[in-house]
Amino acid sequence: MEVTELIRPNFIKLTPYSSARDEYSGKEGVFLDANENPFLSVTAEEFNRYPDPYQWACKQKLAEIKRVSPDRIFLGNGSDEAIDLLIKITCEPKRDNILVLPPTYGMYKVCADIQEIFIQEAPLTENFEIDLDTVFDAVNSATRIIWICSPNNPSGNLVQREAVLQIIKAFPHKMVVVDEAYIDFSSQPSFLGLLDQYPNLVVIQTFSKAWGMAGLRIGSAYAHPEIIKILNKVKYPYNINQLTQAKLLESLENEARKEEYVREILELRERLAGQLKTMEIVEKIFPSDSNMLLVRFRQAKKLFQFLLEKKIIVRDRTNVALCKDCLRITVGTKEENERLLEHIALFEETV
Ligand SMILES: *Cc1c(COP(=O)(O)O)cnc(C)c1O
Repeated sequence: MEVTELIRPNFIKLTPYSSARDEYSGKEGVFLDANENPFLSVTAEEFNRYPDPYQWACKQKLAEIKRVSPDRIFLGNGSDEAIDLLIKITCEPKRDNILVLPPTYGMYKVCADIQEIFIQEAPLTENFEIDLDTVFDAVNSATRIIWICSPNNPSGNLVQREAVLQIIKAFPHKMVVVDEAYIDFSSQPSFLGLLDQYPNLVVIQTFSKAWGMAGLRIGSAYAHPEIIKILNKVKYPYNINQLTQAKLLESLENEARKEEYVREILELRERLAGQLKTMEIVEKIFPSDSNMLLVRFRQAKKLFQFLLEKKIIVRDRTNVALCKDCLRITVGTKEENERLLEHIALFEETV
């Protein structure tokens, strides 16, 4: 299989914008090529120069941590940018479709809708696992991407690794994207290790969750170098700003801190789940491999409103497929979780 088969022909032919810094990437020199201010920024900081369009320093470091080569890494303005661009480079508007496995992350559908790409659905089972027959039935000749989220949002669980593998192998001519936004919280290995073996596999991760950098907007996609090349052609030339690149580099030097946060959040999750389990109003807590708990409550909607009035904000998933009467709760600090539990107990007294 040629990887380029996965890509829309016009993007293979596309000549990208050639930025001034594409032609000379050295740090030293007299830079009179990009119409920048030669002094400083008006804030007296050094933002007057355009940033590295390919974020090489960040990618070098990230490559070491992830054990993939730097030419297999794309960095985006959040993984939402990667999601949007992957649809763009593979799908022909008003013709092609992507397959999603609901209930899942909403951005896949939104990005597809914005681009007028059709959606095929292969719902997960009641336990939020992949049903392979449903997937095979839903894929058709116009399907360009099969989108798998693991650990899945909003259910929080890992889907079966073996089923994902079967999908990757069964559809070598379609892109299979595994969104691993929550992989840092999971005890299972990432699909990153399989990139070399399967050119149709793309893995998405983010710095927004375990790394605590949601405000900076950095996500990553890992794929065959030919796919990364196309993403680089299609993205905005300077999609990751200088400040963000600097902070990303700094954070990559502090991976140990991320591990500590993960350990702490997992402990807090177990404690929260244990306490919720004892409550009358709780019908079911779904198993989680992430930093969220999907919980089925008696009177979920009323509870959601009650909490909202007390300024405790959880995510109402009651109208989402297979999530009837479910609220999605992000694990907070010890104090935040206690506050939540206190108020659920207060609500119990009123019903
Ligand atoms: C939070 C989340 C993301 C992250 O998006 P960013 O744009 O990187 O903040 C991606 N996928 C899933 C499933 C998520 O839940």
